[in-house]
Amino acid sequence: MSETISLAASPGQPRATPRSYEVRTYGCQMNVHDSERLSGLLSDAGYHPAEAGAQADVVVFNTCAVRENADNRLYGNLGRLKEIKREHPGLQIAVGGCLAQKDRDTIVQRAPWVDVVFGTHNMGSLPALLERARHNAEAQVEILESLEQFPSTLPTKRESAYAGWVSISVGCNNTCTFCIVPSLRGKEKDRRPGDILAEVEALVADGVIEVTLLGQNVNSYGAEFRDRGAFAKLLRAAGQIEGLERLRFTSPHPAAFTDDVIAAMAETPSVMPQLHMPLQSGSDRILKVMRRSYRSSRFLGILDRVRAAIPNPAITTDIIVGFPGETEEDFQQTLDVVEQSRFAQAFTFQYSRRPGTPAADLPEQLPKEVVQERFERLVALQDRIAREENEKLIGSEVEVLIAEGEARKADSGRLSGRARDNRLVHVALPEGASTPRPGDMVTTRVTAAGSYFLLADDTNHYQLRRTPAGDAWDRRQADSCGVPAPGTSGSASGGATMLGMPAIRTRG
Ligand code: SF4
Repeated sequence: MSETISLAASPGQPRATPRSYEVRTYGCQMNVHDSERLSGLLSDAGYHPAEAGAQADVVVFNTCAVRENADNRLYGNLGRLKEIKREHPGLQIAVGGCLAQKDRDTIVQRAPWVDVVFGTHNMGSLPALLERARHNAEAQVEILESLEQFPSTLPTKRESAYAGWVSISVGCNNTCTFCIVPSLRGKEKDRRPGDILAEVEALVADGVIEVTLLGQNVNSYGAEFRDRGAFAKLLRAAGQIEGLERLRFTSPHPAAFTDDVIAAMAETPSVMPQLHMPLQSGSDRILKVMRRSYRSSRFLGILDRVRAAIPNPAITTDIIVGFPGETEEDFQQTLDVVEQSRFAQAFTFQYSRRPGTPAADLPEQLPKEVVQERFERLVALQDRIAREENEKLIGSEVEVLIAEGEARKADSGRLSGRARDNRLVHVALPEGASTPRPGDMVTTRVTAAGSYFLLADDTNHYQLRRTPAGDAWDRRQADSCGVPAPGTSGSASGGATMLGMPAIRTRG
C-alpha cells in the first residue's frame, strides 16, 4: 500500500545548474549501504556530491529508529537547517530511513520546511519526489508498506574503491522485543542467488577485493524460496569468484546458525577468519524475554565449532546491558559467557527504551545508574579479554588491507588497515618505501597490541603487494582531480573507512 500526501513547503525552484547533494547517515550497516544507493540514485539523476565544507543544495537524512533520542537528534539537525534554508532558498531537505517509515507525515508537521519524506521501501523514488516537491512547491511524503525494488538493484555510488556491501535479504522474520526493525523493514525478502553473485562479480570487475554480504539475519537466507542450505551454498559460490580476496557477512542469528555454514566458511579460502554474531545477553531468562530463541549454551557451542573448524578466528558480538528486569545474577551470567567466549571485540549497548517495541512497555525498566555501572564492568572485562587475545598475536605475520580515509599519521608515520580477521592494524613503513594505496595489501609482523588495535612496527618484515583495488583507487583519484600519483599515493581521499562497524557517517 502506498500513502502520498502533500503539505506546504519551500517555494518552487527552477533547475538550471547541476545541484549538489549530501547524504547524512545514522545507524547500522544496512543504512550505510542504503546511503550508497541514495548517492547512486542522485548521481544518476544529475546531482553531484557537494564539496567538503560547502552547503549542499539537497541534504538527505537517512535515519535510524533503533536508538532512543533518534528523533530528538533528527529534529535538532532539521532545526539548524531551517536557518540555513532561509539564506539558501534552493535548499531541499529529504528525510528517509527507518524513522521516516515510522513517523511519516508527523515529520512535515513538526518540520514543515522539509521537502521530501520517503520510507525504507521506496528509496528509488527519491529523485522523482525531489523533482515533484520543487515543481509543485509542496512537500512530498511517500511511504510504501512493502518493498518496491530491491535496494541492490538501484544504482550505487560506492564510498570505497576496494570494499563493497551486497544485500542478500532485507527485513526480518524474528520478533526480538527490543528491536524496531521487523515493524519498519517488514518480513524477510531474499534476493535470488544469481542476482547476488552477478553483483559481486560486477564489484570485483570494478576493482573491489572485499565484499560483505548483508542481511538482518543472513542464516535464514533462502527461507523465502525454501532452501535451508542456501546461505552456505551462496558463500561457496561467491568464494569461487576470481579476484575476490576477502568475503564476510553480517549479521548471523545464533538460532539459525547451522553447521553447513561453518563448513562453507572453513572450506572457502576467501571467507575471512572472523565472525560477528550478536549474543545480546548471557542470561537464558533474559534471552527468553528478549524473544531470542537460542540459549547461551547453543551460542557457546557454535563458537566451539567455529574455532574447531577455522584457525584463530576473530569473533565479535553485540551485547545489550540493562534490559528490563535484568538482575545482578542475569548480568553475572552475561559476564560469564563473555569470559568464556573470548571475543576479539564486543559492541556494548546500554538498553534504551524505544517506543513502538514490545520491550518499551515491559515493567522493571532499570535505573540509569544501575545500567551505567554494569556497562562499565562489562567494558572493563571485554577490554582486558580483547587485549589478552590481541597480545597472543605478537610475533605473528599479518596481511593488512590498507584502508581508505586513514592518511599516514604524521606523528607516528603509520598507516592503518584491517587484517584478514578484520582486526585494526597500524603499520609502520620502512624508511623510503613507497606509500601503499588504499586497497593495497601489506604483509608485516605484529609487534605490540592494545585492546582495540595491533601495531606492526617490524619494518624488516614488510612486503607490499599492489592490487587491482589499489589501481581502482588510483583511477578514482584521476577521475576526481586528475592528478593520480603513479606508483605512489599521498593521503587518502578523505572519505571515512568502510571497514569496521560505522555508527554515524556523513557522505557527500
Ligand atoms: S534478528 Fe532480532 S534484532 Fe535482528 S533485525 Fe531481526 S528482530 Fe531485530
